[in-house]
Amino acid sequence: MEEPCPVEPVTAAVIGAGPAGLAAAEALLSAGLRPVVFEAKPSVARKFLMAGKSGLNLTKDESAEAFLAAFGDDGARLAPMLAAFGPRAAMDWARGLGEEIFTGSSGRVFPTAMKGSPLLRRWLQRLSGVEFRTRWRWQGWNGEALVFETAHGPRRVRAQVAVLALGGASWPRLGSDAAWVPWLEARGVGVRPFRPANMGFDVAWSAHFAAQHAGAPVKNVALRVGTRQARGELVVTRQGIEGSLVYAVSAALRDALGQGEAELLLDLAPDVTRDTLIRRLSKPRGRASLANHLRKAAGIAGVRAGLLRELAPDALGDPVSIAGAIKSLPVPVLRSRPLAEAISSAGGICWSDLDEGLMLKRLPGVFAAGEMLDWEAPTGGYLLTASLATGFHAGRAAAKWCTESAGLHAAAGVGQSRPIARKEPE
Ligand SMILES: Cc1cc2nc3c(=O)[nH]c(=O)nc-3n(C[C@H](O)[C@H](O)[C@H](O)COP(=O)(O)OP(=O)(O)OC[C@H]3O[C@@H](n4cnc5c(N)ncnc54)[C@H](O)[C@@H]3O)c2cc1C
Repeated sequence: MEEPCPVEPVTAAVIGAGPAGLAAAEALLSAGLRPVVFEAKPSVARKFLMAGKSGLNLTKDESAEAFLAAFGDDGARLAPMLAAFGPRAAMDWARGLGEEIFTGSSGRVFPTAMKGSPLLRRWLQRLSGVEFRTRWRWQGWNGEALVFETAHGPRRVRAQVAVLALGGASWPRLGSDAAWVPWLEARGVGVRPFRPANMGFDVAWSAHFAAQHAGAPVKNVALRVGTRQARGELVVTRQGIEGSLVYAVSAALRDALGQGEAELLLDLAPDVTRDTLIRRLSKPRGRASLANHLRKAAGIAGVRAGLLRELAPDALGDPVSIAGAIKSLPVPVLRSRPLAEAISSAGGICWSDLDEGLMLKRLPGVFAAGEMLDWEAPTGGYLLTASLATGFHAGRAAAKWCTESAGLHAAAGVGQSRPIARKEPE
């Protein structure tokens, strides 16, 4: 029979090297510990770098109250973490790393470099006291030991404290595959099922419409789902719709679809009232075609006109029904796009199973942070800021717990595990 590998003692383990894990490592390091960060992928922070491809929206420059409100019901849970690390602190943190940032017209904050790699490089320099082990895939526990799959076979690690920062369940190819869910559930930790957040939706377009308009942006329109309204830009895709405007209403639409009562209404002319449209469309059109009349009287042309014809072909008779359709066009949404394509996920470790330091109540000494916790937020810098905020918070609490439990051990005359400096051969 094969001998089980020996158990390696580690003072502080962080599992997952996304923004939450790196923030936890920074907090542990600042507290004088030398954390070991275990990462399944060959390199760290892949999703963070992917976020950098669209400019890396770090945070939103707005009041603490407005920022918290974006998290809906989860805001109250995140309040202590975002009080310590909110939009101001996120901007200071980036500047402190030597990163120049700017605030766009919508309040979104980006690095001037509009990518994540320079910031990550500087952050990793600051974390030079941290030991990183990549290609170490955590696989749950064996007794009290953390079990990892590595290129050199299975390894077991016993950590005085561990911060789990394994991410949510979107874009699994970047590492966050939620494989950890059954391991935590087996230890009695509640995990709310993951659902897509900030995602597109399928719409049953006709083949003709999809062929003509897939890829077309529809600028300055408004969407409404129940009481949730947003204005901005969406993109028509072959399967349906996506883009920042769709993401802004995606949670409400997902939940409405779940209850079987989704109604998505598109306003193609949010700057013009219905009455004004009726007045303009009522002017005699003479010999002009309907397409020309719509363009001249209501500014409806191109993909907007395509949407009107596709979704309300029967309303194109009289000015009143045309204006009604322009202002309130029902979009027949079929379903949300899958988790693997979503920007983020809703669901995760239940708040009731965490203490105020983000320690798992059933697993003393094990903390959790980032998107693996049960919160969701729209795009706009909220996701990264909350991942960082919970990472710093869990890291600080883990350091405190470690110091206090070391004190207890010392008082009881029990030997302490030492930080390790050994690096696995590649
Ligand atoms: C395309 C895209 C663009 C985005 N743009 C933005 C943006 O501009 N602004 C914004 O605020 N947010 C953005 N986000 C969301 C943001 O990137 C995430 O919310 C954030 O990365 C979550 O951080 P995290 O540390 O919790 O998880 P992750 O970043 O997912 O990190 C988790 C880490 O854990 C590792 N891991 C998982 N399982 C294991 C295991 N078993 N063993 C060891 N390691 C493991 C993973 O490999 C990964 O490195 C974007 C997301 C995507 C997909």
